[in-house]
Amino acid sequence: MARRKQIYEGKAKILFEGPEPGTLIQYFKDDATAFNNQKRAVLEGKGVLNNRISEFVMLGLERIGVPTHFIRRLNMREQLIRHVEIIPLEVVVRNVAAGSIVKRLGLEDGAALPRSVIEFYYKNDALGDPLVAEEHITAFNWATPQEIDDMMSLALRVNDFLAGLFTGVGIKLVDFKIEFGRQYEGDLMRIVVADEISPDSCRLWDMESGDIMDKDRFRKDMGGVTEAYREVARRLGVLRDVEGAGARGPVLVSDNEK
Ligand code: UDP
Repeated sequence: MARRKQIYEGKAKILFEGPEPGTLIQYFKDDATAFNNQKRAVLEGKGVLNNRISEFVMLGLERIGVPTHFIRRLNMREQLIRHVEIIPLEVVVRNVAAGSIVKRLGLEDGAALPRSVIEFYYKNDALGDPLVAEEHITAFNWATPQEIDDMMSLALRVNDFLAGLFTGVGIKLVDFKIEFGRQYEGDLMRIVVADEISPDSCRLWDMESGDIMDKDRFRKDMGGVTEAYREVARRLGVLRDVEGAGARGPVLVSDNEK
């Protein structure tokens, strides 16, 4: 069998040519990186968890009418996605002050923001993904004013959806990063949510204890990274068949078996 063609290898994922034109296979690695690739590790099982969590979130988004690149999950580490042209921006939505905004604006870590704040970062590793304004985005043709509008309204819908989803399982959505792509269908083009949505790209705090359940555990050398991701997956109810064959929970006994 011919080896399938690798299209791109990123820090946490690999893209392969898909089975049909216009599709790709997105493979989730166990690699973790932070601080613009200066810190690296392999966290066993992370890719499997992120594949499942991102699938769950993308399916939920589709259900509320937010278009995404996701088609279907293929196996433990791979999903079939639409081939899109990635817009070179990281779109961050923040509800609570944490991370870079705390330093930049002198805010108190954990303070609720007066409203959800959207930021754009230019995707460029050599420059360390700098924060940019709409002026830069349009001047350098990274996206049009219409595309910026579309991304902002989609980002807020994603925020509402995610905030509700996580609140329901006792998790506070502090902030997250998403990426968008242009999907071409004949003469038509639409903006869709691409990449992944997982604890690698969100800040998630346990509502009761304040415990960190996201990649900050890796950034801050706190340990227990995959355990925290596993707990996020468990609370979302996506863990049932990730837990290895043979691991059986309590079995419900029906009346006629008693
Ligand atoms: N984020 C990400 N990839 C990046 C930068 C940030 O997924 O390359 C996420 C990060 O996990 C957090 C949010 O975007 O949920 C905001 O990150 P921030 O700007 O505070 O940067 P950081 O403190 O992570 O450097």
